[in-house]
Amino acid sequence: RAKADGRGTYRFFETGMDARAQARRLLEMDMRAALQRDEFQPYYQPIRDVASDRVVAFEALLRWNHPERGLIAPINFIPLAEETGLIVQLGELVLRGACADAATWPDDICVAVNLSPVQFKNPNLIASVTEALRNSGLAARRLELEITESVLLQNSEATLTTLHDLRAMGVRISLDDFGTGYSSLSYLRSFPFDKIKIDRSFVSELVTREDSVAIIRAVTGLGRSLGIVTTAEGVENDAQLELLRREGCTQAQGYLFSKPRPAAEVVMMLEQPPLRVSA
Ligand code: C2E
Ligand code: MG
Ligand code: MG
Ligand code: MG
Repeated sequence: RAKADGRGTYRFFETGMDARAQARRLLEMDMRAALQRDEFQPYYQPIRDVASDRVVAFEALLRWNHPERGLIAPINFIPLAEETGLIVQLGELVLRGACADAATWPDDICVAVNLSPVQFKNPNLIASVTEALRNSGLAARRLELEITESVLLQNSEATLTTLHDLRAMGVRISLDDFGTGYSSLSYLRSFPFDKIKIDRSFVSELVTREDSVAIIRAVTGLGRSLGIVTTAEGVENDAQLELLRREGCTQAQGYLFSKPRPAAEVVMMLEQPPLRVSA
């Protein structure tokens, strides 16, 4: 690991490398070491069926448990992991961990894993998923893979082939952060998604902005007509949940139910009583 030599310079770095580049290089080295030290682990956030109030799935959300910096959120390391390719190793770690954890949960509870566009460029993706399922014994139908529009932006035949191959294995495919991209609707035609995750930005203003209500209504309607499950992200209060229920949104996820928690707390989250929402 690179250390300052006491005179404010970093021995391992070429002179002329700017501070930003140095910081990134340090972070990359720290990430590599952290992989060796096993400091990355998936946390889990429950996803509830709106009509029944039951937990139906957990989304795996990566956390870096850094010995000095504490718990680090993905926004602080995933972009660099994508640039450096480390996301492939990290992604495999999440896939393996999430499948192994989910295999210990009740049989009707699914697990959702986020996939980076970089992982789609890696020819081993199908093999990694196959191996994670085989090693854990998890049924393929219990694994959901979340992709964002940026995966489809590459819009290569290879990407679509990979998605269809994953689908053929019995794995489900969700379109994450729906509505934030350039042409969300056209992506719904390029692949038969199993689930649409409505971006948090539409949910957060749901109670205060009428246009957000109209958008939620349109997307849940779209889901119903296309036979696609809709999940609202970032549900933080009862008023939002009530509105989503009224609009017929299938599932909800957010701090109202729980923040992402370590695997050991999944059992406790499953035992949480259903929320009572005033009708
Ligand atoms: P995402 O997949 O859209 O995940 C939802 C994010 O919203 C999570 O942030 C979650 O903690 C947060 N969230 C959930 N409910 C609420 C709420 O009620 N209020 C607010 N303010 N936030 C809420 P997180 O865990 O920081 O992850 C951020 C993003 O990092 C994820 O967005 C995903 O794109 C990426 N990510 C996380 N884990 C992985 C991973 O294992 N692999 C890849 N490739 N990306 C990941
Ligand atoms: Mg996601
Ligand atoms: Mg999302
Ligand atoms: Mg999001």
